[in-house]
Amino acid sequence: MHYPEPISKLIDSFMKLPGIGPKTAGRLAFFVLSMKEDTVLDFAKALVDAKRNLRFCSVCGHITDIDPCHICQDTSRDRSLICVVQDPKDVIAMEKMRDYNGLYHVLHGAISPMDGIGPEDINVPDLLKRLQDDEVQELILATNPTIEGEATAMYISRLVKPSGITTTRIAHGLPVGGDLEYADEVTLSKALEGRREL
Ligand SMILES: [Zn+2]
Repeated sequence: MHYPEPISKLIDSFMKLPGIGPKTAGRLAFFVLSMKEDTVLDFAKALVDAKRNLRFCSVCGHITDIDPCHICQDTSRDRSLICVVQDPKDVIAMEKMRDYNGLYHVLHGAISPMDGIGPEDINVPDLLKRLQDDEVQELILATNPTIEGEATAMYISRLVKPSGITTTRIAHGLPVGGDLEYADEVTLSKALEGRREL
């Protein structure tokens, strides 16, 4: 199908987003045409502002509009605890839970020798710098329960052990409402490993 250039450009832009194919992109583009001009301008401004005003916290690597971020600056947080995650989205998920009051460290990835990603390519050197601070007593390794996430947790744990800081790994288990029968082997074996006394 041939569209006027502005609309085909808009469709191409939507297709740059994850999970958006040509059909959805077309639907979104035509929806934009039906929107009020003010709303479209606000939308465009929100995109540009987010990109321009957000950066990564120089301490923990989380996305922020101030540096250090709100979490790093919060004096009511327990500074003896650092939870290590792969992605800023993981921090947001942890914060939603409201159970955790320590600090974070975002790696922005995981070690993956197959893809040529080593510890220097993710935010590990900065983590080690933070650990020189005497306040840190425990690192909670909350990387993803994938081969790369497990390897990263193991690597960090070995690296940190000599310093006397405790490293713990979050237990990965079965999703609530899940059925043992349908759990994959890794999930099931992690669930067993993370068992605790009742
Ligand atoms: Zn921070």
